[in-house]
Parts: sequence; C-alpha cells; structure tokens
Amino acid sequence: MSNYIAEPFRIKMVEPLSITTRAQREEAIKLANYNLFSLPSKDVYIDLLTDSGTNAMSDMQWAGVMVADESYAGASSYYKIRDTVRDIFQYRYMQPVHQGRAAEKILYPCLLKAGQYSVSNMHFDTTRGHVGLCKAKPVDLVVPEAHDTETVYPFKGNMDVERLENFIREKGAENIGVIVMTITNNTAGGQPVSMANMREVAAVAKKYQIVLNIDAARFAENAMFIKERESGYADRSIIDITREMFSYADCFTMSAKKDGIVNMGGIIGVKENQELFTKVQALTVPFEGFITYGGLAGRDLEALALGLYEALDENYLKYRLGLIRYLGDKLRAGGVPIQYPTGGHAVFVDARKVLPHIPYYEFPGQALVIEAYLEGGIRGCDIGSYMLDPDPETGKQLQAEMELARFCIPRRVYTQAHLDHIADTLISVKDKAETLKGYRIVWQPEVLRHFTAQLEPVNSDILFQEGARK
Ligand SMILES: *Cc1c(COP(=O)(O)O)cnc(C)c1O
Repeated sequence: MSNYIAEPFRIKMVEPLSITTRAQREEAIKLANYNLFSLPSKDVYIDLLTDSGTNAMSDMQWAGVMVADESYAGASSYYKIRDTVRDIFQYRYMQPVHQGRAAEKILYPCLLKAGQYSVSNMHFDTTRGHVGLCKAKPVDLVVPEAHDTETVYPFKGNMDVERLENFIREKGAENIGVIVMTITNNTAGGQPVSMANMREVAAVAKKYQIVLNIDAARFAENAMFIKERESGYADRSIIDITREMFSYADCFTMSAKKDGIVNMGGIIGVKENQELFTKVQALTVPFEGFITYGGLAGRDLEALALGLYEALDENYLKYRLGLIRYLGDKLRAGGVPIQYPTGGHAVFVDARKVLPHIPYYEFPGQALVIEAYLEGGIRGCDIGSYMLDPDPETGKQLQAEMELARFCIPRRVYTQAHLDHIADTLISVKDKAETLKGYRIVWQPEVLRHFTAQLEPVNSDILFQEGARK
C-alpha cells in the first residue's frame, strides 16, 4: 500500500467544518429529496462533489488578489496572465473567459459546422453539450481499457488511434470539424493520456488537416502521470512536459477551476492561427466582456496567473497524485472495488460490484453516495444510470455502461485524517451493502435531471429501521 505523501505546505487560515449526527443527516437528506446536489453545504462534513472551483488558494495568490488591477481595459493583471500562458504553453494567443464552458461556447462554433463530427478520447459533458449546440455530433473513441475497472493500464485515458483513423476515412476528413484530447480524461475517471498517444493523434490530425484541440482542465496532473509512468520522461521537468504536450495541438480550452487552482476562471489558447483568434476575440466581447478581462475580475486573473505556476510544482503534484493513490489503496485493502489505477482527481467506486442486488433502474451509484453521506457526512456523486436522462423517444430508463460513485478531492483542502475518514466511511458502507435499498425518481426535469430530480427510497421502512439502529 502506498504511503501518504506529506503536504508540501502548512495551514495559515482555517475554515470550520460542521459536524452532524446520523439523525441530523437523515433529516437533511430527506429534506433534499435524496438528491445530494440539493443539500446545503453546511450539512456536509467532507464535500467531494467536485474538484472544480473548490481549491484552496495559496498565500501568494491571496496577496495577488490585493495587488490586482481592476481597470476595465488593459489591466496589468491581464498582461500577467497573458504572459504566463505564453510562457507555460508557448502559444501566441490567449483569451481569458469566466470558466471552461465559456471557452467551449466561444471556440466550438469557430471550429464546427452543422452536421460535422467532433471526435475525442472522451468529451466532458459540457463539451458534448457545446458540440450539440453547433448541431455537430460528438464521438468518443477512448481505448477499450478505459471501460475495465480492474485492468492495470498506465494510460486508460488514451485515444484509440486506429479507430480514429478508420472513423476519419469512413466519414471523410472534411466532415470532421475538430479532434479533442481531454487531459486527463475526466469521464474515464481522471485517467491520463500518454505523450506517445498525443503525438500519434497529432500525426493523424496533421495528415487529414483537422484542428486538434486540447481540453486542458487537468493538464498538470496529466504531465505528472507522464513523468511517473512514461519512459523517457522521468528526468524532464513538468513545464517541459507540458510544453511538449501542447506543442502537438493547435488550440486549447481550459477550465482553470481545476489545475489553475482557483475558484473561477477559464482560458482559450491558440497556438498561431491568427484568423481563428480574431474570431475568438469577436465572440468574447458579446458573451464574456472586453478581451482584456473576459468575464473575470482583475483579482481572478492575478490569482490564476500564480495558480498555473503553482500547479506545475513537482512536489505539489507528487503529493496530489500520491494522496489519491493513498485513498484508492486504502479502499482496495478494505475490499471496496474502485476504478484502478486511480486517476488524478477522484476515486470512483464500482457501485455495481458493491450493490449487486440493486438493479440499474434503482440506481446503485446513487444508493451508495446517499449511504456514504448518512454514514460519514461525505458528499459524492452518482456517475451511472441515475445521471443518464431517459431515452428522449421512448421515455425509458437507460442503463449506463458502468455504475460508479465518484468522490472528487479538492486541491490542497483536506488532510490525511480526512482521507482516512473517507476510507473508513466507504468501507463501512461496503460492509453493510446487503442492507441498502435502491431509489426511485418521484419528480424529474426534462434534461440534466441528476442536478434537481427528487427521489425516494424503494423500501423506506426497512431503510429507516436500519438507519435508526446506528
Ligand atoms: C470542468 C470541465 C469542463 C467545463 O469547465 P467548467 O469550468 O465547469 O465550465 C470541461 N472539460 C473538462 C474536462 C472539465 O473537467
């Protein structure tokens, strides 16, 4: 089992957490209609809903907040973020925006025509949404290893390059608007993409003259995985590995709420295509605001410029990947099946294996995250059939390929003792798995139901007798 790698920082400011009893949590989850998104955060002890925008900033970033320039046009904080992006990624052009989906909203209409395809290792859900808004079709061609939670494979986030080239030949290069490499591959469980794979995908993109875009939310975590796992990179610096990864692409969209280590922000990068960048700027003004602030305050730009460099610190990344690995190993040692090897930002528990008696239409992933909340005050998220909207034509419940319960780890926020509490909680949930019941939906919106749907336990009496005994 891996050791916990001690934090390369110490604590200078604290935020109290609310500690609740199981009885209080039973009341809270009932009031939230068994939807974790409806829980007030004050009822949550350890919040693992997402690693997006939930990061802790450093003392230097907070100092940056104070010295930032809030001028409407040409603020010094804008030049700082522009020069930082040029330095780290070696792209000529950059546009700040307020978050990742804003970058997608602006860039994808510049790349995709109606009826074309966007081909990716795996589209993140907002990316998929923006491809759809362009009336284009998203296609995921991740390597098959990604769908097997147990096989040890170092780069489960990779694109299946053979299928990519076959797909382009079959549909015709003129019908592919963009190739998107998501690093790390969030939807596959924060799994990394290798440099060799980036290089091969870039060669295909070049051969068929298709634009290659990087969905760069977790670029630094991906660079560290390459350093740890890919031969030839052990002695290269993280900034160097980052520059090589980005040298293969034409542009990137970034949600800076992840590896930017800030609470809000996004970036569009364009390597050298001036015509494309002119279009990006033209759309930024009506959607996000003037080009030198792009929907962000000067203080956000300043904090992001510093956060991007902090994310490249090797000691930080070693600790960051180490702690997810530590949690994953602890869960496995306790008999909890997870997506393995663990990815860069979360552990994914295989809820189908923990709760084989709960059918997909009673949502094993959701049942698991609800019990994790009741048991230990932890907030996770279902990534399974509950997250899938019903078939738009038949209205039938669809079955997801995997039933997962996701627990994301915010950056620089929780300590080893918190991780031990998370592991102990999930192990107890697994130990009482047979007593858990499924859930049914009593109300749902038309789309993206998992954020707002209301549920109830399938057999509420038994669930609550079980709960009351603790
Ligand atoms: C979070 C994320 C996005 C969307 O970014 P937001 O900042 O949430 O709008 C896009 N792609 C990936 C891979 C992400 O993780």
